[in-house]
Amino acid sequence: MHGTDSSSAPVRPAHRRFDGDTLVVASHNPGKVREIAALLAPFGLGRVVSAKELGLPEPEETGKTFLANAVLKALAATQASGQPALADDSGLEVHALEGAPGILSARWAGPDKNFARAMERVAHELGGGRDRRANFTCALALAWPDGHVETFEGRVFGDIIWPPRGDRGFGYDPIFLPDGHDLTFGEMEPDDKHAISHRAEAFRKLVAACFEG
Ligand code: IMP
Repeated sequence: MHGTDSSSAPVRPAHRRFDGDTLVVASHNPGKVREIAALLAPFGLGRVVSAKELGLPEPEETGKTFLANAVLKALAATQASGQPALADDSGLEVHALEGAPGILSARWAGPDKNFARAMERVAHELGGGRDRRANFTCALALAWPDGHVETFEGRVFGDIIWPPRGDRGFGYDPIFLPDGHDLTFGEMEPDDKHAISHRAEAFRKLVAACFEG
């Protein structure tokens, strides 16, 4: 029997796999590029290069969501380089502040990247409010020169605490207490944070869909 038998229908891969030998990381932040190269190291990519090393311009992050900004950065880098490009965009979303600082997480720290001030602003805007719920989000976009884009998101939920605790990690880590833990992200061993973080979840999804196997 042929025709209607669904088992004979062509099976389309749900995701496009990365099978090139060069991946461009669409970031000008050397720390981020190193972290991404390390996360992908087990998958035998020939070469990981940053947008900065290639002298690519940094597009303006005009998107209204993490995903939109990750996609526009990945597309700009793949189109300028002719190679597949991976971008990430991340931040803290405080529920009682309607998701702020959200995509403005880095900008709340100002040009001098003063996260003590950014954390104070979160605490100030929350005031004595009882709803302290928050999450970090990480959006990843892997784009190819033909315009194809694969996207993935990871989240970790918890509460905002005050005063800040811990000097490990970065950004808003000292005021974020992940659910089910007694230590803030700023107090945790980096490996413990990486096991549960928004970035780890997004990367697990990316790797399973586009790199593994
Ligand atoms: P991006 O580099 O434009 O994606 O900005 C991300 C910003 O979000 C960082 O500058 C931090 O402020 C914040 N952020 C993202 N992930 C984390 C995290 O794991 N811990 C603390 N802050 C984070």
